[in-house]
Amino acid sequence: MRGQNYSLWSLLKHGFKNHQTWEPAWERVALKPSYDVVIVGGGGHGLATAYYLAKNHPQVGRIAVLEKGYLGGGNTARNTTIVRSNYLWDESAAIYEHSLKLWEGLTEDLNFNVMFSQRGVFNLGHTLQDMRDIERRVNANALQGIDAHVLNAREVKEKIPQLDCSRSRRYPVLGASWQPRAGIAHHDAVARGFARAASRLGVDLIEGCEVTGMDISGGKIRGLQTNLGMVKTDRVGCVAAGHSSVLAKMAGLRMPLESHPLQAFVSESMQRVIDTVIMSNAVHGYLSQSDKGELVIGAGIDSYLGYGQRGSPHVIEHTAAAIIELFPQFSRVRMNRQWGGIVDVTPDACPIISKTAVQGLFFNCGWGTGGFKATPGSGHVFADMLAQGEPNALARSFTVDRFHTGHLIDEHGAAGVAH
Ligand SMILES: Cc1cc2nc3c(=O)[nH]c(=O)nc-3n(C[C@H](O)[C@H](O)[C@H](O)COP(=O)(O)OP(=O)(O)OC[C@H]3O[C@@H](n4cnc5c(N)ncnc54)[C@H](O)[C@@H]3O)c2cc1C
Repeated sequence: MRGQNYSLWSLLKHGFKNHQTWEPAWERVALKPSYDVVIVGGGGHGLATAYYLAKNHPQVGRIAVLEKGYLGGGNTARNTTIVRSNYLWDESAAIYEHSLKLWEGLTEDLNFNVMFSQRGVFNLGHTLQDMRDIERRVNANALQGIDAHVLNAREVKEKIPQLDCSRSRRYPVLGASWQPRAGIAHHDAVARGFARAASRLGVDLIEGCEVTGMDISGGKIRGLQTNLGMVKTDRVGCVAAGHSSVLAKMAGLRMPLESHPLQAFVSESMQRVIDTVIMSNAVHGYLSQSDKGELVIGAGIDSYLGYGQRGSPHVIEHTAAAIIELFPQFSRVRMNRQWGGIVDVTPDACPIISKTAVQGLFFNCGWGTGGFKATPGSGHVFADMLAQGEPNALARSFTVDRFHTGHLIDEHGAAGVAH
């Protein structure tokens, strides 16, 4: 909707013309034979990378994003949109907090409403060990300057009256961690906002363009083969989430990644009953309520590896049981639809933001079940890496070398079911 204003009059005017007169949000352009930088993957992370690269490093030259499907149609379209930064270790807390700060100004920065709603996130504790872990993480967050609180069961009940906190439950709620600045955003708005802003800065966004091979010689990337023809370039950033190992294989590389299905589902729409985000690692489920009134529900990955964007029925059953354990009244709510995405999981549940053994070829992947929240931060630091050839201070700990040196950043506790 380039250059349009959003007055009621303009909405009516375009409505009378059957909405045929809106200008497209981003330009549809043909693939050129060469670029200075090519980003493979037009999800939130790829689009954010392109935007920050064009905005902060215009000297890099001509930039293209190649997307095999439609922009934002991968995990970006399929996730449950939880945004938070309360991770345990300093390295990951810093990168997610950097992202959260960008979220807080993103609507203004992109001039596009990404519908970021800071409604808070609760991580429930059901055992004494859960509560010890919660206290440890909240204390770490306090040292990192991240807003986080430990609540007891009474305080949780006051903030979430619908939650069954009775001691007679199979997994009674003993307390929770609470990050008030956390929340949710609108996945499509995020992809479209970044796409529009990148396009306005001159980035070529090419949909329906699948990278099928890489031209590498003398240890350097020279170009990409695609279903739309060859593209010459000496700098490539791969941001392909669940398909990152497929791209790595084209370059003769092996990434420490496993691709798993991850599912979510939504209920029928109903009046507002939940105004925050609630997760439970122990009971194994989480939910929020969308602006449309649907309960948005998810849990952990399907254990097998694969590229089918579906998932198995028993995981849905297990997740529904977990939600009913927490909210027995939701047993009467009908479920509307279910879907799956493919997430790229690393051994330490942390991302890989790295150059590779091939000069000019970079990867940003391994965000697993929790990368949506990182979209602006990930794009921001990866843009720096593509421009400078080296990781910036926030990305330095996330290079692929850590799997050789043993400097892993184990975030399984803060990841888990908690996206
Ligand atoms: C059900 C579910 C729930 C989730 N919930 C949350 C959550 O609540 N909070 C959170 O923070 N994270 C969540 N996540 C994780 C989050 O969705 C991802 O980490 C994040 O969206 C990754 O973004 P991306 O842009 O890297 O990936 P994607 O959006 O998947 O983009 C990658 C793109 O690369 C393209 N591509 C792949 N191969 C090629 C090729 N050869 N050529 C060209 N293009 C290619 C794909 O088509 C795709 O569009 C969830 C994921 C799922 C599946």
